[in-house]
Amino acid sequence: MKSEKGPQDDEESALTAPARPPLTMHDYAWWRENLEALTVAIILALIIRHFTVEAFEIPTGSMADTLYGLHAWLECPNCSREFNVALQSDGATGEIKVRYEKKLVYEGECPNPSCTLRLHTVARGGGDLRSKGDEVTCQACRTPFRGNLDGYRLDDVNDKADARCPNCHFVYRAALLRSNLTGGHKILVNKFAYSAGTPKRWDVIVFGFDQWKNYIKRLIGLPGETIQVWDGDVYVDGRIVRKSDHPFAQDTLWTRISDSDLAESGLQKTPAWAAPREGGLPATKRSQWNSTVLRWSLNAAQDQAVIEYQRGFDNYYNYNLLSYGRHGHPTFREKAEQVGDKKVAFTARVGAVAPRPDSGSWVGAEIRDGEFTFQLRVPVGAPSGGSPAVLERVAPVPVGAEPLRVTAPAAIAVGTEARIELENADDRVIARLDGEEILRLDYTSLPDGANLANPPLSPSQDHGAHHLRLLACGVQAELSSIQVYRDQFYIPFAEGPWRGITLGPGEYFAMGDNAPSSSDGRYWGSIPEKNLMGRALLVFWPAWPTNFQWKFIR
Ligand SMILES: [Zn+2]
Ligand SMILES: [Zn+2]
Repeated sequence: MKSEKGPQDDEESALTAPARPPLTMHDYAWWRENLEALTVAIILALIIRHFTVEAFEIPTGSMADTLYGLHAWLECPNCSREFNVALQSDGATGEIKVRYEKKLVYEGECPNPSCTLRLHTVARGGGDLRSKGDEVTCQACRTPFRGNLDGYRLDDVNDKADARCPNCHFVYRAALLRSNLTGGHKILVNKFAYSAGTPKRWDVIVFGFDQWKNYIKRLIGLPGETIQVWDGDVYVDGRIVRKSDHPFAQDTLWTRISDSDLAESGLQKTPAWAAPREGGLPATKRSQWNSTVLRWSLNAAQDQAVIEYQRGFDNYYNYNLLSYGRHGHPTFREKAEQVGDKKVAFTARVGAVAPRPDSGSWVGAEIRDGEFTFQLRVPVGAPSGGSPAVLERVAPVPVGAEPLRVTAPAAIAVGTEARIELENADDRVIARLDGEEILRLDYTSLPDGANLANPPLSPSQDHGAHHLRLLACGVQAELSSIQVYRDQFYIPFAEGPWRGITLGPGEYFAMGDNAPSSSDGRYWGSIPEKNLMGRALLVFWPAWPTNFQWKFIR
């Protein structure tokens, strides 16, 4: 119960001594309360900053696509996927190092109905407004046209780099305005993480290196370990380590490279999926893409139907577009590494069934990664009693190789829809049905007796040794929402070929997620334990309604 006159009132009475108080009693109480609250908040903030959480801004793109430094956004004129490009800045001054020129630009519709590019530089403009009204050549579809007069203006622009869409691989000459600028991610760091617990491999860590700077990278090596990289994967003491053994790292490090839900306008002539070129019956009768409903029909009631992903698996970072070639790393035109670790996810609706006597009715997927090809077959029919779901290594299997095959009871009922996932990462294949893991296979891709100090050729160099297929057998199936991902691909390269590092007691090793453009442990070695500051917690900025990037860092 509240008394009419509490201790608060007594205190106020005691403070009414001045004959002409500068503030009324009411004002004074208000000020004092707020001053107290503010003081407590500042002290708490200082304590929190010192011991638990501190805010930082990400200066560079070495952790892209997990974290971004200064960047600009573009939108693909073929599939409308938005993607970003790093704006390199000077480490000391923060000044952007992109060269912009004053040029005549045209902003407005391109007359080609299947092209949505809206920003072009005017070739003959030469930075002169007198060329207003000159012919514009669309930088996506090459259509020449004259725009509306009010669409022309002078602006600071960089149009030196060809942009490639990360989704549909369409290449065009992008015009980047100086005003197209988003600041680096602002993040919170949990400084308490390693006082209470021990650092885990694949954590995103923050550490000091010299007196002035803090760095953020992914933790790869722990004290006493020898770390090497082969075929994009991390090896510890000669054995592969798997991101899927960490609660979040693998999910974070998949990069989506294709999504059938994004309708394409037709500027990109290479389709995402098509029947494989080699042999067999005319493929078009058995597989058909419907661009209105964004679905593949596989009519395999009498037979088997196959479609294969057509756009390749190169280790491409749209984020690095303006810096390609600077680190001795090939551009997308120079055939970067083919990433063997990939994942496909799709929705299958199964219709009429006509099981083949030898192989039954099933829907599945197949991933080839160099010497290893894995096939998943999920039977169509009753969930129990029928044949099991199978995940196995299929031809070409070298003579004498140990067979790899696992099975589990699982099926898709006729007339229903199921979400199927098949992933291959770090020598582990996992199959999921409606989000539940049903099958898993671990294998060893490093050849027997191989020595990583003198590594064998990586399958990533063999561009013909990779494929991704979707299959249907003895069933009529509709496939939709087909997404393709590639895994993080670490590169054993610093100033030259990088052969690894052996860590002493209390030493850690870290690399950036943006392997082609990250100055990390490959360049400067190990991190002493005392320099570890904490674990990156979350991105809290940008948080505009139009650009909301809040997320936990994993
Ligand atoms: Zn695109
Ligand atoms: Zn156009």
